[in-house]
Amino acid sequence: MLDTDRLELLRHAPVTPAAHIIDGARRDASDGGTLDVISPLDGTTLTTMPKGTVEDARAVCASARRAFDDGRWSGLAPAARKSVLLKWARLIEENALDLAVLGVRDNGTEIGMAYKAEPLSAAATIRYYAEAVDKIFGEIAPTAPGTLGLVHREPAGVVGAIVPWNFPLMIGAWKLGPALAAGCTVVLKPAETASLTLVRIAELALEAGLPAGVLNVVTGEGAVVGHEIAHSHDVDVLVFTGSGATGRRLLEASAASNLKRVHLELGGKSPNVVFADAPDLDEAVKVSANGIFRNSGQVCVAGSRLLVERSVHDTFVARLAEHVRSMKVGDPLDPATAAGAVNSLRQLQQNLDFVEEARGLGRQVVGGARVLEDTGGYYMEPTIVTGVDPADRLAREEVFGPVLAVSAFDGEAEAVELANGTDYGLSAGIWTADLGRAHRMIRRIRAGVVHVNTYGGSDLTVPLGGVKQSGNSHDKSLHAFDKYLDLKTAWIKL
Ligand code: NAD
Repeated sequence: MLDTDRLELLRHAPVTPAAHIIDGARRDASDGGTLDVISPLDGTTLTTMPKGTVEDARAVCASARRAFDDGRWSGLAPAARKSVLLKWARLIEENALDLAVLGVRDNGTEIGMAYKAEPLSAAATIRYYAEAVDKIFGEIAPTAPGTLGLVHREPAGVVGAIVPWNFPLMIGAWKLGPALAAGCTVVLKPAETASLTLVRIAELALEAGLPAGVLNVVTGEGAVVGHEIAHSHDVDVLVFTGSGATGRRLLEASAASNLKRVHLELGGKSPNVVFADAPDLDEAVKVSANGIFRNSGQVCVAGSRLLVERSVHDTFVARLAEHVRSMKVGDPLDPATAAGAVNSLRQLQQNLDFVEEARGLGRQVVGGARVLEDTGGYYMEPTIVTGVDPADRLAREEVFGPVLAVSAFDGEAEAVELANGTDYGLSAGIWTADLGRAHRMIRRIRAGVVHVNTYGGSDLTVPLGGVKQSGNSHDKSLHAFDKYLDLKTAWIKL
C-alpha cells in the first residue's frame, strides 16, 4: 500500500542536484556545466544534473578499471559480495516511496506501476542475483585419463551500462545485479531524462558498503559521455537498452576501439494476435489495453500492433475503445491514474506525428490523440488507430507512445505473416482457446517472448531479450550471468 500522505509531501519536495558518482564520492559538474531536469508532469525545472564531459567519462572508466584490476571487489569471497548486495537491496526497499516519487517526477510513469516496477523490482533483482552468486561455479570436463580440464567462470571485467528512460531502476538493476554479483565493476550512464533515481541508488550502494570505484555513474548526453564509454579501452563489456539507432553506434564503437562485447536490448513493434476463439474477449480487451497503454506506451514490449481475426474485429475494437475511455490519464502521482505523462515534449510530438500521418492516409482514429494542454506537462490520451496497412509506418516503426495500430486478419497463416512482418522480434501475444494453435503460433512467431492468453506478464526467473533487430542478448534470469562471466579453461597434465 502506498503511503499517500508521504507521497503528497514528496510531490513538491525540493530535489538536490544530481552529481556524478566517481571513486566512491559525489562529483559535481566540471567544465561541462549542468543540464536542467525538466519534469514531464508540468514542464517545470525539477533540478539540475552534471552535463558530463569526455574527461568525466574517461575518469569513470579509469576508476572502474582500477577497481577491477586491484581485485577490491572481484577478489572478495562471493558470500561477502552477496552480503553487500543484500544490504543494498534492503536500503532501496527502505527508500522505495521516495525513489518512486522522485522517478515519477523525473520521467512521468504512473506511481501505481512505478512503485512496484522501479524501486521494488530493482531491489528484488539485486537480491535475486546476490543470492545466486555463491551457487554458481565452474566445471570439471570429462577428459581422457592423465588430463584435467577445468572450466573457470571469471568476472568479465569493466562493464559499461547504458540505459534508457522508461524504467531506469528496473532496467538498470537488470544490468547492475548480475554484473556486480559476478564481480565486475560498472560504469553506468543513465538516460538524459531519467538519471535522478539511478544516481540516488548508487549513493545507497556506497552506504551498503560497495567499495569505491566499483559502481561509477556519469550523467549527461549520450552523444558525449555514452559515446566515450562505448569507445573506451578500459571497458570490456557494453550492455545497452535503448533504440536500434544507438545500438548500431555501439557496435561501430566496439569495432573502432577494443572489440568489447556488445549486448543489445532494443525496441519492438510487438504483435498482439486475437483469434475469434479467444477464451474470454473481455479479459483480452482489458489486458491488451494495459499491454499497450501502461506507462503511456513507453514500454519496449508494448503490444503496439493489435491483430484481430476479422469476425470479431468490430466487436473487439468497440469494447476496447469503451474500456480505454475508462482509463484515467493524467497526474502520474495520483494512484488512480492508469496512464501518466509522456517522458518529454520531443516524444509527445513524435507520438502526435504518427497519428497525424495515419489520419492523412485515411486510417480511422478511434478516440484519444488528445493532449492535456492545461497541465503544462506532456500528456496524451490512449489512441487507437484502425484499418492500419502492414506497409504503414505505424505498422512498422516503434512509436514508443500510447498509440495502438489495429489491423484485421483472416486465419492463422495471415496472422503469422502479419505478426512477423516487421524488422523487430521482441514480444508477442496470442489469444486462442485452441492449444494446438497456441503451440504452432509460439513456434512460428519470431520473438523473444510469446504470451498466450495474457500479455506483458513476466518474472525475474525467465529471460527477456529480442531477435531480429530487437537485440542480440538477454536480461533477467540466471542466463544474464553469461554476459558478465568469462569462461576460462585450465588444461592440466596429471
Ligand atoms: P536511446 O537509444 O535514445 O537512449 C538510450 C541510452 O543511450 C540513453 O542513456 C542515451 O543517453 C544513450 N545514448 C544515446 N546516444 C548515444 C551514443 N551515441 N552513444 C552512446 N550512448 C548513447 O533510447 P531511449 O529513447 O532512451 O529509449 C527508448 C528505446 O529503448 C526504445 O526503442 C525502446 O523500445 C528501447 N527499450 C528496450 C528495452 C528492452 O528491454 N529491449 C527496454 C526499454 C526500452
